[in-house]
This record gives sequence, C-alpha cells and structure tokens, in this order.
Amino acid sequence: ESIYRHLVMGTDMKIPLYNGEWVTGINFDNAASTPPLVSVMEEINRFAPMYSSVHRGTGYKSQYSSQIYEEARSIVLNFVNADPNNDTVIFVKNTTEAINKLSYRLCEDNKKGIIISTWMEHHSNDLPWRNKFQVDYVDINSQGKLNLTDLENKLIRHKGKVKLVTVTGASNVTGYINPIHKIAELAHRYRAQILVDGAQMVPHTIVNMRPENPLQRIDYLAFSAHKMYAPFGSGVLIGPQETFQKGVSEMVGGGTAEIVTHDWVIWNDPPMKDEAGSPNVIGVVALVAAIKTLSALNMKKIDHYEYQLAEYAYTGLRSIPGITLYTQLSPGEPHIGVIPFNIKGMHHERVGSILSQEAGIAVRTGCFCTQPYIQKLLSISPKQMEYYKKSRNSSRPGVVRISFGLYNNFNEINILLQTLEQIVRHPTMSIS
Ligand code: PMP
Repeated sequence: ESIYRHLVMGTDMKIPLYNGEWVTGINFDNAASTPPLVSVMEEINRFAPMYSSVHRGTGYKSQYSSQIYEEARSIVLNFVNADPNNDTVIFVKNTTEAINKLSYRLCEDNKKGIIISTWMEHHSNDLPWRNKFQVDYVDINSQGKLNLTDLENKLIRHKGKVKLVTVTGASNVTGYINPIHKIAELAHRYRAQILVDGAQMVPHTIVNMRPENPLQRIDYLAFSAHKMYAPFGSGVLIGPQETFQKGVSEMVGGGTAEIVTHDWVIWNDPPMKDEAGSPNVIGVVALVAAIKTLSALNMKKIDHYEYQLAEYAYTGLRSIPGITLYTQLSPGEPHIGVIPFNIKGMHHERVGSILSQEAGIAVRTGCFCTQPYIQKLLSISPKQMEYYKKSRNSSRPGVVRISFGLYNNFNEINILLQTLEQIVRHPTMSIS
C-alpha cells in the first residue's frame, strides 16, 4: 500500500465497466494530470470566501489576496532553490503558456539567435520556438536518451549564436530524467542560457535550480500545477528578473502598466508586467498548498517510492511475451514512473480501451503531444508520416503509456499485469 494514498482525493472511486460491474478505478495517467491532494482542496475551501482581485483594491479581502499571492512567489522560488535576489516568478496558466511567454520575450530581444531543442520534447517545448528562431534538435540514441555529444557538437557548430538550450527535465513518454546540470554546464560554456521544461520533473523529483557550481545553474524553469496534485489553471515561469525587465509582454492589459496615457506607457516591473488581467489567485493558493505538502512529504522519498513502482512494473511487463517495451531502467540512472509499451499485433488505442472498459484502468495512448520523439522511437519514416499527412488516417502509430503518481501501489500494478496477460492470451476476447 502507498503511504501517500489517503492524502490524495478519489483514489478509491468506483467506476463502471462495460459489463455493468463496478470496480475501484486505477489511474495510471498521472503524466497527463494528477488528482488533487486532500490538503490542496482543503486550502482552496478555506481560502475561497476570501478571494478577491489581486493588486487592485484597498479592501480587506483584496489586501489579503494580494499578500497571499505575493508570498506565494517566494514559496515557489524556495521549492526549486531559485535565486531570490535575481529570479522572478511569473504566474501563468500552465507550462505551455510559460514557454510561449519566454519564446516571445527572447525573440523580441534578438530574432537572429539559434535555439537548441531536442528530439525528446513535448510540442509545448518545440512549437513555440519555431517561426521565431532557427531551431536545431539534439539527437537521441537507440534507447531514446539524449545524446550529449550531439548537444556539444551543435553548440560548437553554432558557436556564439545559440541563445538558449531548451530541454525537458523528464520525458512524458519514456520517463528518462535528463542530466540538467550537465546540460546547463555545456550550454553555459558556450554562452547559451538553459530552459528546463519541468512539467514532468517538478512533481516527481527534487529540482535544484542553483547547484554549487555556477556553470550548472538553471536559468529558466517552467511547470504546471495540474501535474503536481493541484487543479488546473496555474503554472509557473521562473527566470532572471533582467530578462523580463526588458521588452514588453506578449499579452498586455490590466496590471501590466504603471502609467498609461494615449501617447505613452510606463510598464510595471516584473513579474507584474507579465501577468496581464486579474490573476488566478485561487490557482496559486492551490499550487502553494501542493508545494507545502510535497515538501513536507519529502521529494526524495516520493522519487524513491515512484522509482520502485516503475522497477516493479518493468519487471512484470518484461515477463509478458507479447509486450514490446521501448525503454529500460538503467542502474544508477534516475527515472520517473512513466513507461511506454505496445502489445504486438494490437493497436495502442484498442489496448487502452480494453484496459479502461474491462478493468477500469486509465492509461493514455497515442503520442502525448510528443510526436517527433515517438516517430523516432518507433522508427517511423518520414515517408510513412507523409502517408498520414495525405490520408488523414486517424489510426496513427503510437504507444500505450502508464504513468504513476505517489498514491499508486503495487497491487494496482498487479491488476494491470494480469489484465495485460489476459489480453495477450485472448486478443479477441474483448468488446472494444
Ligand atoms: N512539457 C511536458 C514534458 C509535458 O508532459 C506537458 C504536459 N503533457 C507539457 C509540457 C505541457 O503542460 P501543460 O499542458 O500543463 O501546459
């Protein structure tokens, strides 16, 4: 049993199967979104009567909301060991908005720079950079891990021109955790900055933006509350104050300006100039409650527990002959609890719906907004992709993904493994 299970809402929820039976649902789709912590929902309820417009009113509620909202910034900074003297925390709605925001800002500064992204990225850390910059993608090896030699070669090739190396902290497809400090050191040695997409990393392991070696520090970090046991609607972009002091936000309006005439505007200082419109203070309260609970539980312990779940699942999956695994746990290398696989001869979507409708197990299937990575992992040629482009055939290649949260347990993995064994043995037994 997970010692964290009772801390999360809805873990014993009964859900209906296709045959009308009701079972306790199993959620192995935590990489998409996590259910909320009980402490988070309690804090939302406690704060709800008090929420009010931040930075706008002299009334008690507005003052209180503003105070809570501003205090949240230092709690976030502290959680990832950002620099309280130089870094600013901009509240956004999610990781996607955070990365888009940074892409606009860096582009305003100098359109000629090169961005080094990787083959491993979620579309949210790839598409925002296109059309603004020339983007080069760091290659992956046959196991799907980042090729750091290729990164260095690219930094050498584009010497002096690379503005930013942007890389995911942990992959939402393979669960690999990237050596962000090593990557930061390489980037900084070639005078580039680094952004870590922390959407999958921050909820599952310790993130330290400021290790002792200054070359290894992380310049920018983005993450989302809804993947760390708080509801939708809030996310974070952290970065040097200096970056945001310059230029104008891609979205402007209320809250962003200090003085406005019809002839000129004086923008507010960061982070306010980047938070247009009335801020989502409830979302920020929820995020802070999640951070406080996760910190009290200890991220190192959570990481360790989820690694054990992944290890157990890998061992089980390997013992089922009809299963294709694309990744592995390498001894000594960190990993979050995300595992992609397929059942030979069966389309991933069909596996997903059988698991859901016949066993109440929620997984995700497809490409998880990470299509180039999956194309490479599955060796899908550009010619094949042309076929999908022309035909718009929706049964595109993909994988089944299981992803664990801190409340999952070994028994749930047993049920998954038993169900997969049955599917492999009787592929036609099912309704879907
Ligand atoms: N990056 C990664 C690695 C992700 O897994 C996700 C969400 N699947 C995102 C970015 C985007 O997060 P959001 O949808 O919260 O903006």
